[in-house]
Amino acid sequence: MSHPYLATFGICFNVFLGLIICLECGCALGTKSIVLHLHDVHQEEHFRIDHTKLNQVLTELQVKESFDLTNLPINCPEIEGLHLSSNAYICFTCQHIRGTLKSIQTHHLACHPNIPMPTSWKRVAAQQLHHQNRTSYFQVIPRNLPSNENDIATQFFISLNQN
Ligand SMILES: [Zn+2]
Ligand SMILES: [Zn+2]
Repeated sequence: MSHPYLATFGICFNVFLGLIICLECGCALGTKSIVLHLHDVHQEEHFRIDHTKLNQVLTELQVKESFDLTNLPINCPEIEGLHLSSNAYICFTCQHIRGTLKSIQTHHLACHPNIPMPTSWKRVAAQQLHHQNRTSYFQVIPRNLPSNENDIATQFFISLNQN
């Protein structure tokens, strides 16, 4: 949800995560990292943060320090504002997700050395709390699924046109 004071810094509050999201960077920030992020990445001087006011807002919203990914629901919908990787690689053996082919192959060699390296990989949509910091990926259901022929609505229209 957007908050008028937070909006002046280009950040908003995500109720589900209990964290602040920087809309420009697409990353989630906890109470301790917000000021550092605004200062280092966005050069705080331009904003002139009123720290008392900011802390007051963070307390009011009950912003947390961090979010434990194990609390994510199965079939987690895409979290608005966070960077989305629509073609991440998922491990067949343990469901671990990596952003690149090289990275998932490295994971496979390290964690499943006795299983032959797959020649093809399943691709999924995934997000990270902080993609620049290369935090862990988690699978999400994207909000705007690209339409394709397997889509129920698309099949319905195709069947209409055939009749
Ligand atoms: Zn940022
Ligand atoms: Zn694995």
